[in-house]
Amino acid sequence: MVQKPGNHRPTASSRRDALRGLPAVGAALASRPFSPVVRRHGAPLATALLRESLADLRADAAAGRLSRAEVRRRATTAHLARDVDGRANALLAPAPRVVVNATGVVIHTNLGRAPLSGAAAAALAASARCYVDLEYDLSRGRRGSRMTHIEPLVERMFPGCAALVVNNNAAAIMVCLRALARGREVILSRGELVEIGDSFRVPEILSASGARLREVGTTNRTRLADYEAALSSRTGSILKVHTSNFRIVGYTQATSVEQLAGLARRAGVPLVVDWGSGDLVDLGPLGIHDELPAKTILDHGADLVTFSGDKLLGGPQAGFVVGRRELVEKIRRDPLARVCRPDRMLVGAVRATLASYLTGRAFEEVPTLRMLALEPGEIDRRARRVEREVARATGAGRLLARVDGVSRTGGGSSPAGERPTRLLAVEAPDGDAAGLERRLRDGDPPVVARVKDGRLLLDLRTVLPEQDAVLAARLAAALGAERSRPRARRVRR
Ligand SMILES: *Cc1c(COP(=O)(O)O)cnc(C)c1O
Repeated sequence: MVQKPGNHRPTASSRRDALRGLPAVGAALASRPFSPVVRRHGAPLATALLRESLADLRADAAAGRLSRAEVRRRATTAHLARDVDGRANALLAPAPRVVVNATGVVIHTNLGRAPLSGAAAAALAASARCYVDLEYDLSRGRRGSRMTHIEPLVERMFPGCAALVVNNNAAAIMVCLRALARGREVILSRGELVEIGDSFRVPEILSASGARLREVGTTNRTRLADYEAALSSRTGSILKVHTSNFRIVGYTQATSVEQLAGLARRAGVPLVVDWGSGDLVDLGPLGIHDELPAKTILDHGADLVTFSGDKLLGGPQAGFVVGRRELVEKIRRDPLARVCRPDRMLVGAVRATLASYLTGRAFEEVPTLRMLALEPGEIDRRARRVEREVARATGAGRLLARVDGVSRTGGGSSPAGERPTRLLAVEAPDGDAAGLERRLRDGDPPVVARVKDGRLLLDLRTVLPEQDAVLAARLAAALGAERSRPRARRVRR
């Protein structure tokens, strides 16, 4: 048992005695208990971890945190071998880990945003271990461009436009502004000086691109005349940013893309629109009305539109720049475009994702869209199956209920993006819903869910259908563990 400092105060000499019992590194590694550990993890790593383990033990002993008997027990080669094995396993375990997302937040940035379609995952895996014709024109036997794998598809979705794909949308905006407005001014409404999420702040990206911010209007109202007054020979571009994760209500006025496009054309400066989530299809049928398709933004007269690959689009992390050919060409030649170019796996996964849209099968094949399209009735049927399974396994059916709720699109997309859903609501047998949530998160695979009003809420909208069974098993185990826990432990808390 670890003792609190101060509980046990060995004298300096007794500490020295205890430490004298520690084995030498070489002798420990050569001992029988270490042989499988060295075989599994390799001698260099086992040696380094053993040194760390011994150093920790020495520090604990020196600080008086351990009794002499405890130091002796931990200093055995059997114990040290187990400790080193544990350290190595934690260090080498595959990560990031697969989790069950039962939060109902479809584009969950902390959980990796969009899960890929089967075709996109297969394309990614196929190119991972092989050489591919990434930049090689097989018909001519000479160097090609990696964009040739994506361009023909994008051109069909955005007729007359050229496209560039980079690593993410932040990079897409940065390379646009750098290529078009470095050393010049970018006119942007004060209502669009947004922070999208951890480390993405529009003004910072803008200044990192070398362009200068020219703020216009106010937080709640920016008129066309404000933009017009800011135009000068120093203007490099007009920028419009989708305020994707918040909404200003009340006395507001924003200037539309159409109005800005007219102004930009008259002034001869490009209009760049950061369209954030960049859906490729109309999501109106899903009740999402504030997310116009990216093509509509171009139809409204934007010269360039940028968007993410892994938000509503439902592909891998990527950033798209689509629009006027001569501008895209200019951006392509910027060194920053080279710095954030997509690798071969990304190219394959983007292409496969776009293919689902071209064939009109995005709502079946692309997981984010498939999840958003799920009707509450279907979610309820799946929740009922999980409920039955858990009730059967634990006898704790009275703790489970299905209730109405809302799922969210999330991920800095569509602040109003809520969809009606059916939740599986679970009461903890001891009333400790937070404890139940923690146990679900602790296990394998971890289940991420939320607690509200003393109940654990699971939304199966964002659970992959093939994870329903494991979700039921994890929930049953978490409830079972609670029931079988001795009462004495519980009342102490
Ligand atoms: C999400 C978002 C970004 C950042 O995109 P990443 O692909 O995460 O780099 C930029 N602008 C807007 C409006 C966004 O919603």
